[in-house]
Amino acid sequence: MPKTKSQPHPEISQVMVMEGHNNFPISWLNKQGYCEYSIYLENVKGVEVQPTRKMVIGTQEHARLEAEFQEDAEPATFQEMLETSKTAELLSRELPVVSVDYGIRGFIDEVWMTPEEFIIIDDKPGTRAYESSINQVWGYCLAFQDMVKENRTIIGALRERGTDNIFWSAYFDQEAKNNIKSLIERVHSLLVGENEFLPTSNPRKCRSCRLKVNCDRKAKPGSFKSVRS
Ligand code: SF4
Repeated sequence: MPKTKSQPHPEISQVMVMEGHNNFPISWLNKQGYCEYSIYLENVKGVEVQPTRKMVIGTQEHARLEAEFQEDAEPATFQEMLETSKTAELLSRELPVVSVDYGIRGFIDEVWMTPEEFIIIDDKPGTRAYESSINQVWGYCLAFQDMVKENRTIIGALRERGTDNIFWSAYFDQEAKNNIKSLIERVHSLLVGENEFLPTSNPRKCRSCRLKVNCDRKAKPGSFKSVRS
């Protein structure tokens, strides 16, 4: 990641303060869609829970793909990659991105760079394009665009982990950009206490939540009706 003056937030874990601005992990945009209150429990209240089996498998799969990729990879700086991609296609894995202005940072699973476009890929278990997963990929697109500062087309994509199956993709257009900027502002407003972290009203989410034992705001069964989880 580019060098930026930063320090951990004094009260909220995983939040950094960069040049005076809060900066949170882009993966929180996915958590936010699932349940904002889970961010509060884990990062503000400091509830500690073990990672789920799904999370452990995901981490192992990440490490395996990264090791495979590194076997043939040629090291290059971000600027070198951008320059090379103006005339040739290339691929980068685990690309760090940070935007001080938007207050977000993270690692993109995979980026395909071509002279015409950038394709930002996030790997997910399963093949369902949840709104929260799309928000996460838009967060990566926004941070990436902020770093490259050029007009090449950006496409966001979701891929089934461990396969080549891209099951969702879309252009990162002005509408997507405006929507994700608003969502990021919402998360920042939670961090500074302007808004309240809201718990989900969907009991099915609570049932599979690893924080449920420590949660005082669980949704009651029968209180929610939806075709989506
Ligand atoms: S148990 Fe339900 S309300 Fe509580 S953090 Fe988990 S998903 Fe949110």
